[in-house]
Amino acid sequence: MNDILPEHSDLWAFFEETVQDWLRSYGYRCIRMPIVEQTALFKRAIGEVTDIVEKEMYTFTDALNGESLTLRPEGTASCVRAAIQHNLLYNAPQRLYYTGPMFRHERPQKGRYRQFHQIGVESLGFAGPDMDAEHIIMTARLWRRLGLPDIELQINTLGSSEDRARHRARLVHHLEQHVDLLDEEARRRMHTNPLRVLDSKNPALQEMIEAAPKLLDDLDEASLKHFEDLQVMLREAGVEHRINPRLVRGLDYYNFTVFEWVTTRLGAQGTVCAGGRYDGLVEQIGGKPAPACGFAMGVERLLALLEEYAFQAPQIPVDAYLVHQGGAADKFAMVVAEQLRDQGLHVILHCGGGSFKSQMKKADASGARFALIIGDDEAAVGEVSIKPLRDLADQLRMTVEAAACLIGAGAK
Ligand code: ATP
Ligand code: MG
Repeated sequence: MNDILPEHSDLWAFFEETVQDWLRSYGYRCIRMPIVEQTALFKRAIGEVTDIVEKEMYTFTDALNGESLTLRPEGTASCVRAAIQHNLLYNAPQRLYYTGPMFRHERPQKGRYRQFHQIGVESLGFAGPDMDAEHIIMTARLWRRLGLPDIELQINTLGSSEDRARHRARLVHHLEQHVDLLDEEARRRMHTNPLRVLDSKNPALQEMIEAAPKLLDDLDEASLKHFEDLQVMLREAGVEHRINPRLVRGLDYYNFTVFEWVTTRLGAQGTVCAGGRYDGLVEQIGGKPAPACGFAMGVERLLALLEEYAFQAPQIPVDAYLVHQGGAADKFAMVVAEQLRDQGLHVILHCGGGSFKSQMKKADASGARFALIIGDDEAAVGEVSIKPLRDLADQLRMTVEAAACLIGAGAK
């Protein structure tokens, strides 16, 4: 779990503002859910036989009533729970987003943390492939807006539950034939959740996984059409993609479309955004059946990618640093600082005393464009001395209004 220090927080702020603006431009509205939920929600939504539920959740017992609670490992379950609880789907579909920390008890490494942040997007109540396409096309736009090239889009379809039942039989047969190869986890999952075995990261299994029967070959006509329609829409929008028949995603609730955006620039943790369709989930956690799809981006990984491309966050400069010394000057400086902020300027008022010389050093180090200097002389006539810090111009004396004008003109 990381501290985000001021040297990084400008990049975070830039990213969050860009993302918010982008989401609003597609008509998505923010929803904020609590960070703690009942454990049963995640077991039910994500699935018992998944990495997250089996080994990654921070679960604890509420000392007051013995209830089992969990720090959210992802946002979809909470978002759907909230939509059901507040009847958001009563009359209209919903385009929702959320941002915030998620918690998974994983082995920490570059791009993989125990508290990390996601931007999540969920569209509830939309059945057609047009919404799957919207999600993918909008993420492609975000990469363009952030100036991130070379993120590969991989897509796949998991078909309907009937398709998967047909496929399951063939897959279990294949796994049984290679049972000697399987690791303990794969053996355990072979009968409870065989599709999940294909998601294994164990290198020793990759060849067997490569040779396994493909779900694509077990799809019925309607499932194939959903997938093909999506691909046509992506092509029309000029979004390149690769079909990855091995893409199954780590959560149980998906059906039809799944996708990941993957970069080769971040080592092993290259997936920066992942999602898909989960038509069964709303009903599964107690709502009236409603189709749904969504995706989540890993903020830390995207910021690491921005840094990889040497992206510099735009700085919001300090306009003026107020230096002051003397009883009357100290009081007047505080008034002046507020007057300048009334004009929309960013002002640091020196605090803690010290000589003019040492205060000027701090002014310079603050990155401010101007130092405003107030001694008792200036205070007596209600004026300030102003010195540009970023060029060699002289110090001038003027009224506060004139100083505000001069500083404000440069800020625009
Ligand atoms: P992985 O296969 O890398 O474990 P996942 O399938 O568990 O990923 P999702 O649940 O789909 O990940 O989460 C969506 C995105 O959130 C991921 O693509 C990734 O960018 C980010 N993410 C997931 N887990 C972590 C983590 N522990 N630390 C940082 N980012 C993460
Ligand atoms: Mg994971």
